[in-house]
Amino acid sequence: MPVTRRFHAEFAWLSDARGVHPSVESDVLIEVSDGRFTSVIPGVPVGAAATDGALRLPGLTIPGLANAHSHAFHRALRGRTQTGKGSFWTWRDGMYGLAERLDPDAYYWLARATYAEMVLAGVTCVGEFHYLHHGPGGTPYGDPNAMAAALVYAARDAGLRMTLLDTLYLTANVDGTPLSGTQLRFADRDPDAWASRVSALAEQSHARIGVAAHSVRAVPAAALPTVVDVAAGRPMHVHLSEQRAENAACHAIHRATPTQLLADNGFLGPTTTAVHATHLDDLDRAVLGDTDTGVCFCPTTEQDLADGIGPARALVDAGSPLSLGSDSHAVIDIFAEARAIEMHERLRTETRGHFDVAELMMAATANGHRTLGWTDAGTIAAGARADLVTLRLDSPRTAGTDPRAAAVYAATAADVTHVVIDGTTVVYDGRHATIDVGSALATAIAPLWLPAAVVPASFVMPVPFDPGGTDDSPTAHLDQPITAERPDTR
Ligand SMILES: [Zn+2]
Repeated sequence: MPVTRRFHAEFAWLSDARGVHPSVESDVLIEVSDGRFTSVIPGVPVGAAATDGALRLPGLTIPGLANAHSHAFHRALRGRTQTGKGSFWTWRDGMYGLAERLDPDAYYWLARATYAEMVLAGVTCVGEFHYLHHGPGGTPYGDPNAMAAALVYAARDAGLRMTLLDTLYLTANVDGTPLSGTQLRFADRDPDAWASRVSALAEQSHARIGVAAHSVRAVPAAALPTVVDVAAGRPMHVHLSEQRAENAACHAIHRATPTQLLADNGFLGPTTTAVHATHLDDLDRAVLGDTDTGVCFCPTTEQDLADGIGPARALVDAGSPLSLGSDSHAVIDIFAEARAIEMHERLRTETRGHFDVAELMMAATANGHRTLGWTDAGTIAAGARADLVTLRLDSPRTAGTDPRAAAVYAATAADVTHVVIDGTTVVYDGRHATIDVGSALATAIAPLWLPAAVVPASFVMPVPFDPGGTDDSPTAHLDQPITAERPDTR
């Protein structure tokens, strides 16, 4: 018999099941059974008999946030790539140095802590754009999907859903320059070897499988149709025109923009998401919109890497659904990403008022889930997956704000007090149910920056990853405390 749980939200962001026609209602009684909303009733006063036994959620409760673009291992770069003033190259050198040191066990601990930070920030589903596949020199692990398994297992243990976007990465540049050094770890032998490895990835109740082409820089045009074939209608992502150099290199070889090259190879469409989509011309925007291709903006990373400001308003007007991601995790705060979409447009145009709050909330919730293939999540409506994110409205940041605007124009991730994912409470009173997140991040990251001699060769995972395991509910394991911690390495 499914357990029925009830919540009573002071304010809740409601909409229809697609996330449109939103409104903020007060005293909303929310009933959950078997991981889904069974009823959502506004205007039930405190003290009414119907609220007996319901958990009161003070503040504003919104749908689960989707982080549609993540590279989990980049979290270890936060605050460590600003050598001198910090250039793109200090960042990339740091990223490659870090990638060189990760193995499946170390990656499990890092990703588990990173995903737990996401959960604390209200993220209920992550899109992991996964390209760190193999061991040093590109040698496959005994299980060639060991790194993917570490990520899937980490998401489960942090308590959120994921779509693992297994990424094809073959070349160093558009001209076919071969990979070298750390990049060899990203590459499969050829597109068919990649397809074969991806076919061995098993979905779980909390984890779906999608695919990605890293970029037109790292995937030759001739290999793009293979990615489309392997996707077979599942989510398919690609980094698109993040920096001008990619456009110039693509034009020099193909006499086409990256967008045109993708279109010519059948890569665009409603299950495709173009990440960044920063440096586009008029035709690119029209092609993306006409094909219903989604766009995922990652403004805090785009700020950090000095990428530029993408044409968010024009893309949405052209027909591309907008989603959001924290990408390199310089910041993990989807409210900051949403706010920056509007703020970047203001800075670029010197005018205010490009997106309304409802559009930005849609990008952060329903659109993000849809771009990851979870079409039944991201709304508080009967029948949808029971994700709830509650923000306090009495913090120094949110006190005195209008609940209708608080999430986008006042709150930060630190204002999240309560998170429910698929009906299970994962964050209570601002704390993760099973993970001390600050400590978990510190112990996962610190060894990665120590001299190799003082770091053990590998860390021991508490339980072997088992794709055929017993996770009939994505967060069922949270009912038992996770006691195994990484052994003391000193
Ligand atoms: Zn990225």
